[in-house]
Amino acid sequence: MPDRSFLSWPFFEDRHRDHAERLEAWCAANLPVDHSDVDSACRKLVAALGDAGFLKPTAIDPADPQPLDVRTLCITRETLARHDGLADFAFAMQGLGTGAISLFGTPEQRQWLDKTRSGRALSAFALSEPRSGSDVANMEMTATRDGDDYVLSGEKTWISNGGIADVYCVFARTGEAPGAKGISAFVVSADTPGLRVAERIDVVAPHPLARLAFDDVHVPASALIGKPGEGFRIAMSVLDVFRSTVGAAALGFARRALDESVARVRDRQLFGAPLFDLQMVQGHIADMALDVDASALLVYRAAWTKDSGAPRVTREAAMAKLYATDQAQQVIDKAVQLHGGDGVRRGHIVESLYREIRALRIYEGASDVQKVIIARQTMGA
Ligand SMILES: Cc1cc2nc3c(=O)[nH]c(=O)nc-3n(C[C@H](O)[C@H](O)[C@H](O)COP(=O)(O)OP(=O)(O)OC[C@H]3O[C@@H](n4cnc5c(N)ncnc54)[C@H](O)[C@@H]3O)c2cc1C
Repeated sequence: MPDRSFLSWPFFEDRHRDHAERLEAWCAANLPVDHSDVDSACRKLVAALGDAGFLKPTAIDPADPQPLDVRTLCITRETLARHDGLADFAFAMQGLGTGAISLFGTPEQRQWLDKTRSGRALSAFALSEPRSGSDVANMEMTATRDGDDYVLSGEKTWISNGGIADVYCVFARTGEAPGAKGISAFVVSADTPGLRVAERIDVVAPHPLARLAFDDVHVPASALIGKPGEGFRIAMSVLDVFRSTVGAAALGFARRALDESVARVRDRQLFGAPLFDLQMVQGHIADMALDVDASALLVYRAAWTKDSGAPRVTREAAMAKLYATDQAQQVIDKAVQLHGGDGVRRGHIVESLYREIRALRIYEGASDVQKVIIARQTMGA
């Protein structure tokens, strides 16, 4: 049984503890799923999570808009990631893909949320481009006003849920000013003519991922989220909410790696005694436990700070994401080591964790970018 003592920390309320218990029971009964067809697996996971009511925290309720509860998002991602990385991915994208609509959408745009919160539609967040990943302000895709429409032209890449999403939140250059101040955000339905999958991208821990082409895609002016030129600010506000949740997913992977390692070193007999009797092994277990708890403190500190009404948690979220993802990589690497040959056996749980964790140190701001953010925040710049 994983360590659940963190749920008694003062960051949480009883409703969080209830949610964690219900979700844990659901995960034990329903996860992991078969990953052999990731598109189909993701669609089924979204439908199942939606039916069980677990997608509701991913977006605001259009009928009763309340701020997103970041602690619930983090507990959910941690729990799902501990059971099945693809389930965490399916949940996370329903939030990231609709974050701009939750925070800045019109009532008409928010109609999508009834569908994404119930698992009847999948969503995606389309920010990155071939020449602008970390350097978001350098984006090239254009949105040109044409009468009552905007015309979107260009490419997006690395788009999670690309090809299976029903709705995309797309960022494009509208040109009010150079750089970050000339970008706007749009809601684009996947069936809009001119939007197509240019390439499916295969990564070490497979999930639906694509490069998308926008060949003169016409959207009505009502698809604009917020005001023209506010796209960069909108994207950063969305990441401000969801960045801590990436740390939470990493925490879930790390906690699973620790649990698997504890069981392994207890059961495995070497030199006539359990592996745990070796002091260097005890040192590994101690390092792993410490990294897990320190990550949890940073993740839930960031989530609690946001839920307590802080307008921005840039510093806290960057620390949580950087520390939890980098340390999860270390924890999982130790787990692989403690499992010996089984640690690299394809299909073994720690082998899959080893592949799952890597991308989290790259997307939603690479680790190096988080360090730049933390340094600037620390210097008050
Ligand atoms: C599995 C996966 C899923 C993704 N899903 C999405 C998605 O759904 N939507 C979306 O829009 N994008 C998505 N991305 C894209 C992701 O956000 C980018 O890959 C990321 O921002 C890095 O951009 P890049 O790949 O162009 O690398 P680059 O920007 O070329 O950066 C390469 C490396 O340079 C270093 N670096 C960059 N900037 C700095 C700096 N300021 N200081 C020091 N070092 C620096 C870092 O080590 C970085 O990893 C996804 C990526 C992956 C791998």
